[in-house]
Amino acid sequence: MAAYEYETHDYDVVVVGAGGAGLRATLGMAEQGLRTACVTKVFPTRSHTVAAQGGIAASLSNMGPDNWQWHMYDTVKGSDWLGDTDAMEYLARSAPAAVYELEHYGVPFSRTEEGKIYQRPFGGHTTEFGEGPPVQRTCAAADRTGHAILHTLYGQSLKNNAEFYIEYFAIDLIMSEDGICQGVLCWKLDDGTFHVFNAKMVVLATGGYGRSYFSATSAHTCTGDGGGMVARAGLALQDMEFVQFHPTGIYGSGCLITEGARGEGGYLTNSEGERFMERYAPTYKDLAPRDYVSRSMTMEIREGRGVGEHGDHIHLNLSHLPKEALAERLPGISESAKIFAGVDVTKEPIPVLPTVHYNMGGIPTNYWGEVLNPTSEDPNAIVPGLMAVGEAGCASVHGANRLGSNSLIDLVVFGRAAAIRAGKVVDREAARGVPNQASVDKALDRFDGLRHADGGTPTAELRLEMQRTMQEDAAVFRTDKTLKQGVEKMAGIAGKMADLKVTDRTLIWNSDLMETLELTNLMPNALATIVGAEARKESRGAHAHEDYPERDDDNWRVHSIAHLEGNEVKLTYRPVILDPLTEEKEGGIELKRIAPKARTF
Ligand SMILES: Cc1cc2nc3c(=O)[nH]c(=O)nc-3n(C[C@H](O)[C@H](O)[C@H](O)COP(=O)(O)OP(=O)(O)OC[C@H]3O[C@@H](n4cnc5c(N)ncnc54)[C@H](O)[C@@H]3O)c2cc1C
Repeated sequence: MAAYEYETHDYDVVVVGAGGAGLRATLGMAEQGLRTACVTKVFPTRSHTVAAQGGIAASLSNMGPDNWQWHMYDTVKGSDWLGDTDAMEYLARSAPAAVYELEHYGVPFSRTEEGKIYQRPFGGHTTEFGEGPPVQRTCAAADRTGHAILHTLYGQSLKNNAEFYIEYFAIDLIMSEDGICQGVLCWKLDDGTFHVFNAKMVVLATGGYGRSYFSATSAHTCTGDGGGMVARAGLALQDMEFVQFHPTGIYGSGCLITEGARGEGGYLTNSEGERFMERYAPTYKDLAPRDYVSRSMTMEIREGRGVGEHGDHIHLNLSHLPKEALAERLPGISESAKIFAGVDVTKEPIPVLPTVHYNMGGIPTNYWGEVLNPTSEDPNAIVPGLMAVGEAGCASVHGANRLGSNSLIDLVVFGRAAAIRAGKVVDREAARGVPNQASVDKALDRFDGLRHADGGTPTAELRLEMQRTMQEDAAVFRTDKTLKQGVEKMAGIAGKMADLKVTDRTLIWNSDLMETLELTNLMPNALATIVGAEARKESRGAHAHEDYPERDDDNWRVHSIAHLEGNEVKLTYRPVILDPLTEEKEGGIELKRIAPKARTF
């Protein structure tokens, strides 16, 4: 057994992650007087949320008529009827209050002439239950909304005495013999010490796993660490096959150009200069949802109408927009286009390509953020002591496809919900349990094994192999052939984890070892994604299967549940929650409004 000393820290709550979800949960916990620690591998305001540009959805009706029922309907339809109805109602209903709360905490939203919060149109957000024109529902702080939210929430958390452990890397969950989560083991990156956070509630807010693909808009830190920890603890991952491609990653770098660019009037053209979205989505055109636009772009390229020397990308045009609008509403992306594509947006189009952007799947939870244990006989049973929020979790409000600006609102609504719930279920007076030594030792042994890994495959090499395979075989369009081939290739790649080579054996600022730990997290996420995709014989939302082009509600309106045994993925399925939270007679939504139908735009 590896001999490492560690320090133990006792808290009511430990939140892993300081992005929008982690900070909103931390703040909410601390406000209620729960002793709260937030551990994070990067400085809080460097979390990927900082890069969120476009905005945060809430039916404030500042720019025209809107209401939560329309927002809920759009979310249900956007999810291609795979989201859980109770959670989607909770999201849409709570959104305005959550945004006003952010405003009062100090988020500097852009304003209308009358001083109200400015809202822009975003794909898939409509009026009149999808029958009316697009709505302006997305609240924005120019094109730096995530940046503004993170800085505000970090300041507020400090004000409320939350304690931050910055540049601590969470290695594994500590689980009791009877399946209660007791805390988390961390490695402090700058001095090589180990820390056990012993808590009554652990909240995973570790973000997505975009980096399992070759080209992604997400930060290099988005490595699905929460999903990895959960999979190693024998718990489930849900709906992992649903990976969102954003239509407008900059060709080459993958850097994001926000959908807000199309919200402000930008449009896509092919090599013939045609605004082709008018053909695919006659009503909403360039503002159809992301999966739809990404597929249309891929189709144009496949049919020989791509732009550029290799005919392999598409143009995004902004030069017709007034210069002042670009400067005021989209300053950040004008700069990104200059740096990453060498393009002056006031004169030329930006070269773009669908790029991996968001993971709809994740750790299954109820709408309070409590992690579900779908293997138990009761489908609503929870894992005591464990919550998951933000992109790491799957409540599920995004189902098979997330609408733009619905993630930032998910972070704050469910970060807040987790805090409300923890305030009720965490017994402040109760004595803290002693963390299960066997579980701590197991985590330290795993760490030690990787630290001394002496095989023939460098981490970076294996990671690249995984990323290329996922990019090619679990892409925008999928077929039985590519998926089967992908599953086989990924099994081989995962097998090579036993042959990893780590060259640096020190404990201080060892990025080689940290990236290896991250690869051990990316891998289970990637495996669950491709195996789940291979098994799902239908097309729904982001999962576009060419051999099964139709959605099949009779057989497949179910959540995929993946358990990993070593590198093997075992799949089961869980029913989608169809009942809303509030009955219609009590002011809830009419069920027939949200019944499944064809998803056209
Ligand atoms: C470029 C870009 C633009 C986007 N724009 C929008 C938008 O305009 N509107 C919208 O709604 N959505 C947008 N999204 C999506 C949205 O921003 C993300 O889904 C969301 O920010 C994820 O937030 P999070 O809090 O779950 O995780 P993150 O912000 O990714 O934070 C994860 C946190 O977990 C910590 N962490 C991870 N692993 C460990 C570990 N092992 N140990 C310790 N700490 C760990 C990290 O340090 C970090 O603090 C965008 C996404 C991208 C990539």
